Amino acid sequence: MTPRLSRQRARRLLSLALLLTSTQALGTDDTSAAQKEAVPQATNLQLDQPVITELGPPAGVKPAAANTPRAADSAEDISLPQAENLQLDQPIQELDPQPVAKDETAPAAVAETKAVNAQAELPEPGTISLVPGKIAKPLRLLGAEIPPATSTRLAWSPSQHFEGVYSPTAVLVVNGAKPGPVLCLTAAVHGDELNGVETVRRVMYDLDADHLSGAVIGVPIVNLQGFHRGSRYLTDRRDLNRHFPGDPDGSSASRIANSFFHEVISRCNAVVDLHTGSFYRTNLPQLRGDLSNPKVVKMTQGFGSTVVLHSAGAKGTLRRAAVEAGIPTVTLEAGAPMVLDELSVSHSVKGIRTLLNQLGMVSKFRLWGDPEPVYYTSTWQRTSTGGVIFSEVQLGEFVRKGDLLGTVTNPITNVRTEIRSKHNGRILGMALNQVVQPGFAAYHIGLQAPQEQISSPQEVVAEESVADKSQSKAPATPNTTQAPTEGEE
Ligand SMILES: [Zn+2]
Repeated sequence: MTPRLSRQRARRLLSLALLLTSTQALGTDDTSAAQKEAVPQATNLQLDQPVITELGPPAGVKPAAANTPRAADSAEDISLPQAENLQLDQPIQELDPQPVAKDETAPAAVAETKAVNAQAELPEPGTISLVPGKIAKPLRLLGAEIPPATSTRLAWSPSQHFEGVYSPTAVLVVNGAKPGPVLCLTAAVHGDELNGVETVRRVMYDLDADHLSGAVIGVPIVNLQGFHRGSRYLTDRRDLNRHFPGDPDGSSASRIANSFFHEVISRCNAVVDLHTGSFYRTNLPQLRGDLSNPKVVKMTQGFGSTVVLHSAGAKGTLRRAAVEAGIPTVTLEAGAPMVLDELSVSHSVKGIRTLLNQLGMVSKFRLWGDPEPVYYTSTWQRTSTGGVIFSEVQLGEFVRKGDLLGTVTNPITNVRTEIRSKHNGRILGMALNQVVQPGFAAYHIGLQAPQEQISSPQEVVAEESVADKSQSKAPATPNTTQAPTEGEE
């Protein structure tokens, strides 16, 4: 036998041996029984059987308890599970490896519900007006009851998804030991706007429930779908911020908007919705609000020295829908999408802390007490040619008519076009250097607002929330408009 043949034979023998071994392994001999222990048996779903779904209520009738626990809430005697106290203001030494939704095992200091002497807790004159004698109440939200002096994390899931699971969105709640309004902070309604996510984290994790009057609800990422993909939109390319207050029988975006609006926003006495510029544009930190609404004007004054732009807001925005439902709401715009910038975040945090102070909810932050906000209306200046845009001005700069704002250069023909200001005003938002098409909204110029546009401010008071009012529903408007507003909300 040649060496080659013997090698072939050896290989054949080896293959045979391997075959025998694997056949034995497949055999159902008793030695493998030990490995079966402790594995739960799968449920038999009988996939060939038809599944009968519970049909929802007929069109036009809002679904009851399933999606909207507020229906049950109105009956005060229904007991809800008590939320655990996570003490959000305590430093966290190590990263919490657990996802938010599965946090049951976190060490929970049992909430010590303090009997608050209503008389002793009346706010100082000049702060928010509270109903006299009111005692801090447990806050009911998302199927849980949060006692006074408690910080916790809840989860909001926008109804159902066809996969059967929807990633729950974290809702941070700090219910103060003393009575006061419910202020809500929402961020990343556009999934690519990151500054607000960080702003909400910094504000929420610095609140001390024992010394807070009222409650703060913080939703760092409203549009989780977009956030995961680094996208402004929902997965169906719809802009969530054009579908509020939503419609339980409408498009996917409308349903998500409806769920969020009724389960969270309707619980708020005031809302700050955090945004950034859109599509490679950046914004000077600024508030946007309907200044014909006295309560909104009062809110804008709470942010200290922050620029305020008067606008009613596009139809379908969270801000406009909330204001129409009687909840004073402002948008806080800062920076550009897709990036985190410290200046925008720290300005926003400072502004919100000042607001908390101005609303009489906290006393420890004493920032920007005095400087008045400056009110603007605005106009966009667009490029007349396409090419590479480079700016000569900076955010916040004051410009005069005729000043050079930037240039657009055609990279092929080398033709350069200047963009000169058509107004005396202030740069509130602008394009980042990039390639633009003719007509691109490049500079957002703020013009001092005429005084008659601004209503005299009115206190924001801790009234009963919209959800508690007798079934007062915001009309579900069919939000089909998809017109993108430039660089905003
Ligand atoms: Zn936005």
